[in-house]
Amino acid sequence: MGIAGGEMGMIDFNNSEITYAIEAVREAALLADKVQRDLVSEALTKEDRSPVTVADFAAQAVVAKRLADIFPDAILVGEEDSKALREEAESARLAQVAHFVQTIFDSASQEDVCDWIDLGGQRPSKRFWTLDPVDGTKGFLRKEQYAVALALIEDGQVQIAALGCPHISKGRKVEIGGEGSLVLAVRDQGSWTQALNKPEGKWTALQVSAQEDRTRGRLLRSAEAAHTDLSALDKIIQHLGIGTEALRMDSQAKYSLLAAGEGELLFRLISPKSPDYKEKIWDQAAGSLVVEEAGGRISDLDGLELDFRQGRRLENNRGVLATNGLLHEEALAAIRAVKA
Ligand code: AMP
Ligand code: MG
Repeated sequence: MGIAGGEMGMIDFNNSEITYAIEAVREAALLADKVQRDLVSEALTKEDRSPVTVADFAAQAVVAKRLADIFPDAILVGEEDSKALREEAESARLAQVAHFVQTIFDSASQEDVCDWIDLGGQRPSKRFWTLDPVDGTKGFLRKEQYAVALALIEDGQVQIAALGCPHISKGRKVEIGGEGSLVLAVRDQGSWTQALNKPEGKWTALQVSAQEDRTRGRLLRSAEAAHTDLSALDKIIQHLGIGTEALRMDSQAKYSLLAAGEGELLFRLISPKSPDYKEKIWDQAAGSLVVEEAGGRISDLDGLELDFRQGRRLENNRGVLATNGLLHEEALAAIRAVKA
């Protein structure tokens, strides 16, 4: 691997934390992709979430194991823990998880796999990694968008972010079978993307769109209606005079698209069904730096900075607003106007 040069600066590939983030997320995203191809069948009923559970556990095991090997003192805050997986009733699932992990670590036992998953059970501290092994579980099951999301947080600021998006290519949505994207952001070093399945491939700088006309702003929104407030979103669209169709998809893949200039506005409004919802840090950390380092802006719905110092959730924030930067103030004004 060399240095990715260019007008926007460069990535320091001599930094072992950066190369760890790249390779661990690549490995985990390709593994999740394999689980999706092998286990998610068309016949799957909506209630059967087992394939995504297998991918979740396997991806966390791999990212955590690599971290412990390279940085034995590092702290990892992962979304999953192995408690349920260790139960008798889950033995078939554990065998499946171990099977997939063994495609990378061939001598891994079931006990090893559970122990590696639990390496992610630490508490947030001054400096720690946070992981969402499969963000966008519903998208994963629909064979649509999902992401492996890893971020390094220091003093409440995201320093390194990696998103593995198996169905995004060069900032665009692709179908299963495309090459997928690895998206990397490093504070003050830009946001970049590389083909997920090409570790030696070219890195391309990501840059948000230069759109200043809010009526042409393209909305990126969650596929899950329950993760937003649809009625307030409609009012915001009216208020801003947006005439374009929203792009709907699951996971932080949306932040990669915003960073790539494929949309300008992302409102994570508070769902009336869960008025006290606080965002989880692993759902926002990686994506937020990807947006900022591509020249965009991210805040909560009141314009406050996302505060990653409050534990596992963004306790001091309300929802999220991410934009290309140019439309941020107008978006905040729209939120205030409709009282969203
Ligand atoms: P998305 O794919 O953008 O809808 O985001 C998926 C993430 O939304 C999941 O990882 C959940 O942690 C998170 N989530 C769950 N419930 C809510 C909610 N009520 N509001 C916002 N996000 C939620
Ligand atoms: Mg998530």
